[in-house]
Amino acid sequence: MRIVLMGAPGSGKGTQAQRLVTELGIPQISTGDILRQHRKDGTELGKRADAIMAAGKLVDDATMLDIIRDRVAQPDAQRGFILDGFPRTQAQAEGLATLLLELGTPIDAVVLFEVGAAELVRRISGRRTCSLCNKVFNIYSAPPSSPASDCVAGSSEHQLFQRKDDQEDTVKERLRVYEANTRPVLSYYSDSGLLRTVSAEGSPDEITKRLRAALAASGAGASTNKARPARRAAARKRAATRKPAAARARARKSVRRKSASKTARKTAKPAKAKRRVPRKPAKRVAKRKSRAPRRKSKR
Ligand SMILES: [Zn+2]
Repeated sequence: MRIVLMGAPGSGKGTQAQRLVTELGIPQISTGDILRQHRKDGTELGKRADAIMAAGKLVDDATMLDIIRDRVAQPDAQRGFILDGFPRTQAQAEGLATLLLELGTPIDAVVLFEVGAAELVRRISGRRTCSLCNKVFNIYSAPPSSPASDCVAGSSEHQLFQRKDDQEDTVKERLRVYEANTRPVLSYYSDSGLLRTVSAEGSPDEITKRLRAALAASGAGASTNKARPARRAAARKRAATRKPAAARARARKSVRRKSASKTARKTAKPAKAKRRVPRKPAKRVAKRKSRAPRRKSKR
């Protein structure tokens, strides 16, 4: 299954992505991490990115898409992948769709983790870091114990401070930028019928449940969803017209079995087998064809 996860900073998207990795056995693809690795390894892509960044520019969409193309070709991504943090713009979303269409592996679902703005501000602005042990707490949802037994030796209290990135005004600005950038991407995926929205307020377990339901509902993607009822109807029609014929064949066989039982068993068995062989495989193939799309969708 190929999934794109979207959500504001503080939406808990990263935690859910990690759970999906474990549950589905597919990798999480973070373009930021891959880009860092390419630069560290000094690959062609890494050098290109270095040159772009040295010029004070953002890595362009074409380079980002090359990174994705390279990554989804890896063996561990053949059963699917989770994209996190990409695409960020509509142009990237369109480029990604074109690339995956070329590869014959389109996106199955796009899931948006939705959290109210007030809750997001509370979650992020509640973050505190200990200057002694570097542990991260949340004064609302995960406050440190007092006295602290898990800080550095000799300190009975964590020394908490708030990172500039987590201060309320900065958070509000980050969220504003996120909203402005991602709105076109969300409407792009909404228009293509891939977007599923999950409420990301509540416990992580509750959110995982909602995420699973959203993925199940999206099946193997919108196009398959639309095709499915039609395919089912066709299969039903075929089955309906097949039944009388099958019944007739069964009747014929029972007649044959009766007459065969009168003759010696040894001669009857190979005769039966010869007649059955060409018919059964043909039936199985027909059944498989109607089942195939449903099986795929469960991945
Ligand atoms: Zn500490």
